[in-house]
This record gives sequence, structure tokens and C-alpha cells, in this order.
Amino acid sequence: MLEARAAVESLHAYRPPLAGRRGLRLDFNESTIGCSPRVLARLRSLDSETLARYPEREPVEAEVAGFLRLDPSQVLLTNGVDEAIHLLCSTYLEPGDEAIIVVPTYAMYEIFAQAEGARVVQVPSSENFTFPLDNLLSRISSRTRLIAVANPNNPTGTAVACDILLRVARAAPHAAVLVDEAYFEFHGETILHLAARPANLFVARTFSKAYGLAGLRIGILAGDAAQIAMVRRVASPYNVNAVALAVLPEALRDQAYVEHYVSEVQRGRELLQQELKALGQRYWPSRANFVLARVGAAHAEFIQALRTHGILVRDRHTDPACDGCVRLTVGSLEHAQTLIVALREVLGKLREHREVNA
Ligand code: PMP
Repeated sequence: MLEARAAVESLHAYRPPLAGRRGLRLDFNESTIGCSPRVLARLRSLDSETLARYPEREPVEAEVAGFLRLDPSQVLLTNGVDEAIHLLCSTYLEPGDEAIIVVPTYAMYEIFAQAEGARVVQVPSSENFTFPLDNLLSRISSRTRLIAVANPNNPTGTAVACDILLRVARAAPHAAVLVDEAYFEFHGETILHLAARPANLFVARTFSKAYGLAGLRIGILAGDAAQIAMVRRVASPYNVNAVALAVLPEALRDQAYVEHYVSEVQRGRELLQQELKALGQRYWPSRANFVLARVGAAHAEFIQALRTHGILVRDRHTDPACDGCVRLTVGSLEHAQTLIVALREVLGKLREHREVNA
């Protein structure tokens, strides 16, 4: 009988709760207003020839590199950051190698590392989900071949200073260190432009969040040219589809649209946090387009009650140190206000029944 590799047999399937997502979707950190109208116009103008031809990644890669002020040899376009993570794992991890992650964090680092047969070393976050630098440094060994850090982190929204990440990269020159900046635009700080970036440091970016293009699947992996050349060997030459490549330059050109959405999210995030504070609700100040809050034992009732208000949010209570926690995506200002109104009502009702932590 055909059997999958042992590493794959022992993987837990990651099934995000995607089915029937009707309503205001504040559960996957997507944009709530979608992409720029200029991107849609470009999409609608595509002809059959564009679809008939195999996609050419390089010209668009050069444009993205220009946008990032990098050389094209330092940039690989990917099928979302998920593919970037997958490619890094395939490029650097042998069975038995170690991959270090700081938990709680994004699920795909562990899945792709385990699929290669690597051993995943989970370093717990410090108090209030701050970055556990000393603990992480103490877990680096000669077998460490990957260290993945989301900055800002998902699902906590917390960020770590770039000089701390540099220390990690310098302490493990034999490991690929991925700084996943999927939420960069909402944070505003990047490690990408530091002078003297170590050759083992990779930075990932996505068009799924601030650009509102999660469905198109486009991401960026940036790093040292010689290392990116290795990763490129593992990637399909056609990993990014023709439609995504055709609209990406337009998405980059309409920075005003992205900036406007980001400023709305930042204002909405502030309002949401103020409201959580006023309600006496535990939350962690966020640098991303979502806020993690601890509602306690009634997390499932809370989520269900918001659903009856037509709002979807994400249960994170099974994540490490996230007992009773839910993650609330922040969208446009209008959508943040809709969430706030519903929150007041739902928390008020649950508290009447003494089901929610204050
Ligand atoms: N990294 C992080 C930290 C994320 O939260 C997500 C999406 N939730 C991703 C990567 C995936 O991004 P993409 O859509 O580009 O694959």
C-alpha cells in the first residue's frame, strides 16, 4: 500500500475554518474593503493571450525589487508568504534538523518544517507575549537550520525591535532566519533596509493584507542574492500566476490607496483598543491589523454572539498561552466601528450572565 513519508503521516492537518464565511469577515486579517479600483480595472482588461501564456515572473520581480530598493537578484516573488516559508524549509531543512519558532505564532512555520522531517523547537513568548531573546538564543544549536519570527506576530500583534532580530541572525549564521513581515504596513518598521544585513537573514512580505489581494496569492521573499538563488532553484518557474503578475505593478503604483487603508486600520485599531480598555477587557496592544483579547471561558459564546450580529472573528484559545483568547481583525474605520458597537452589546450581555472576564 502506498504510504506518505513518516513526517507527513504525523502532521496535523491545518484546516482554517473557511466554510460559509458570510458577514463582516474579521476572522482572517484580510482587508475589509478589498484592493485598489485600479487593480480591478487592470484585472478586467486582461485578454486571453495573458492566460494562454506561461507567466513571466522576472519583469515583475524587477519592478518589485525597484519598489523595495533592492537588486532583482535579492527578490523572489512567491505564491503568498506561505510558499516563501515552504521554499525556505525545502531549501535548508534536512530530516532531523531543528527549526526554532516563538509561540504562539503563525501555524505554517511548524507545518512546513515538520513536513521536511525537521524537529520544531517551540520557544514560549515572555510575559505579555514579548520576545524571549535570551531563551531563544539558548536554544540555538549546531542543528538549528531555520528560525522563523513573525514581526509583528500573529496572533498576538506584538512586535520586536529590529536590532534584537539582528542579534538572533548573527547568533545563528548557519540557520536561515526568516523575519515574516506580513503585517509590515500596519507597523511601519522593517529590517529590510538595515545596512550590513547578514546573509542568512530573509524577509517576507505579502499582498494579502494591506493590499487586499489574499485571493490572488502573491508574496515576496527578499534576502542575500546567493541565498535567494538557492531558494529559486526549488521554486517552480511558474509559481506566481499570470493574473497576479499582471496586476501587481498596478497595486504597487497605487500607494495612495494602501496608505489610506493603513491609516484607517491604525485609527480603527486605536479605537478598538480604547473600547476594550473602557470595557475593562484584557487585550494586548497591537502593531498589526488585528487585536488579541482574552474573553475567558465564554470565548465560544462570544464568537457565536458576534456571529449573530453578522461579524466573524477567530477563536485562538488553543494557541499556546492564549487560553480564552479571540482575535479581532481591524478593517476600515467604518468596519471597526461596527465591531465596537457589537462588542459593547455582546460583552454587556455575557457579563450579565457572568460568563466573561472583565
Ligand atoms: N505570515 C503570517 C504571519 C500570517 O499571519 C499570514 C496569514 N495569515 C501569512 C504569513 C500568510 O500570508 P500569505 O497570504 O501571503 O500566504
